[in-house]
Amino acid sequence: MPMPELSRERPDVLVVGAGNAALCTAISATENGARVLMLEAAPLEERGGNSHFTGGAFRFAYSGVDDLLKVLPSMANEDLSNVDFGSYTEEQYFDDMFELTQYRTDQDLCEILVRNSLETATWVHRQGVKLQPGLGRQAYKVDGKFKFWGGLALHIWGGGPEMLKALYTAAERRSVRIVYETPAVALIREHGRVTGVVAEHLGERVEIRAGAVVLACGSYESNPEMRARYLGPGWELAKIRGTRFNMGAGLNMALAIGARPYGNFSGCHSVAWDINAPPYGDLTVGDQFQKHNYPFGLLINAKGERYLDEGLNFHSHTYAKYGGEIMRQPGMFAWQVFDAKAHPLLRGEYRIRRVTKAEANTLEELAPMLEGVDPEAFLRTVHAYNAACTSDVPFNPNILDGRSTKGLAIEKTNWAVALDTPPYHAYHVTTGVTFTFGGVKISKQGEVEDLYGRVIPGLYAAGEMVGGLFFHNYASGTGLMSGATFGRLAGRSAATFARAGAIAPAPA
Ligand SMILES: Cc1cc2nc3c(=O)[nH]c(=O)nc-3n(C[C@H](O)[C@H](O)[C@H](O)COP(=O)(O)OP(=O)(O)OC[C@H]3O[C@@H](n4cnc5c(N)ncnc54)[C@H](O)[C@@H]3O)c2cc1C
Repeated sequence: MPMPELSRERPDVLVVGAGNAALCTAISATENGARVLMLEAAPLEERGGNSHFTGGAFRFAYSGVDDLLKVLPSMANEDLSNVDFGSYTEEQYFDDMFELTQYRTDQDLCEILVRNSLETATWVHRQGVKLQPGLGRQAYKVDGKFKFWGGLALHIWGGGPEMLKALYTAAERRSVRIVYETPAVALIREHGRVTGVVAEHLGERVEIRAGAVVLACGSYESNPEMRARYLGPGWELAKIRGTRFNMGAGLNMALAIGARPYGNFSGCHSVAWDINAPPYGDLTVGDQFQKHNYPFGLLINAKGERYLDEGLNFHSHTYAKYGGEIMRQPGMFAWQVFDAKAHPLLRGEYRIRRVTKAEANTLEELAPMLEGVDPEAFLRTVHAYNAACTSDVPFNPNILDGRSTKGLAIEKTNWAVALDTPPYHAYHVTTGVTFTFGGVKISKQGEVEDLYGRVIPGLYAAGEMVGGLFFHNYASGTGLMSGATFGRLAGRSAATFARAGAIAPAPA
């Protein structure tokens, strides 16, 4: 779209970004009667931000199969007699959020997230996003039956790419326009109210006025300078799992007009990620550089030592925190080591072509293949671990089985099984950052607050831009749910605000 035309647009709601949170914002704003324009920093072929890279885990509360049928009515036609979905109540969701964030999650935001999660999942499905049972990811087959261990019964079919395809189609159907390669660079605030943004296209600046502005343009994870500044020294060296476009522009723009920084600024979501993955996400590989099945093996550092309890909890409760632990190891890497017994439990991400792997028929042969690791120390560690494994509790991957080692300085407290069956295989990983936790403070209506807790009229935020939900750790599948919930909320509030107030006049 030519620049002069863009400056004359004057939508009711201007959405900055075009990932999951932004699209949910845009759709919701149109449902509430607004004309919407979206600005996206990326070119068309790289659109969708981190949302494109997701595997599609989607966390919502449900009290049983009847609730799942609300989200996925077609499931009624499937034979699921060998599947036990159990339930995941709002109380369990709250417990997970409280426990994982060490009781720091903002109570109001958490309440909005959890209490609306089933309804949000249903709404997302209504927009054309397809879901499917997360068999093999959140439930393993034991004695012929899949049993879910809670929280992620349904995944988004086709992951991020398919979810986005559906949301883009829904937005287009509602005449939402998206302008690519046009990052917002500043907010326009007049007489206290946000009345638009300054955007940039091919080096040209343009002012775009709007009834309300919603920032849904990710966090600062892609920006090495901001990572080092907020997360700490060394974090500029971490790999980025997703988009290269989340440079913290939204946060900087908001802080520049006095928005309130909020949440765990030195915290982020980060996971074990293939050591040879590129610096930013690869759209053709998606999330497959991740390696999430360490609870069924051992984590070994350069000193040949274990450095944490691999079996502390299900991976969905530890993976987002354990990624950061790799940063604290010498050389910022680790090896995940398994024997043949674990092989059937490993997800597809361990079988991709671009994987950094070592394999051998004995532990002695494997030891020198683990690049960067002290081989003697590695063998001592595995032998001590094997000797500390007990067999009085049966191994069960679907529950916290309590099968623990006995007598190690760092016990493995669940799924502790000796590494004794060849072939042995190991995967070389470093830290991959997913997204950063710090953001802006929003009200219960999705309005951005200023330093002193007053609402900044006309400014809203959603998705990774929102601070205060996640601290220290994260429950998998909450990022997409947060984006959809707070996007929907921001879209509704921004549309209502824009329709109530006159749009500021265009510059002369
Ligand atoms: C590999 C990977 C796997 C994941 N798996 C899951 C999962 O299974 N389940 C889950 O719930 N979450 C998952 N997540 C997290 C989830 O992707 C994010 O929490 C969520 O998608 C963030 O949505 P968002 O809309 O806030 O940000 P994004 O989807 O990142 O969208 C932000 C958009 O803003 C654009 N932008 C940035 N700056 C500007 C600017 N100045 N002007 C205009 N546009 C701008 C970006 O280009 C981008 O399109 C995963 C993330 C990654 C990276």
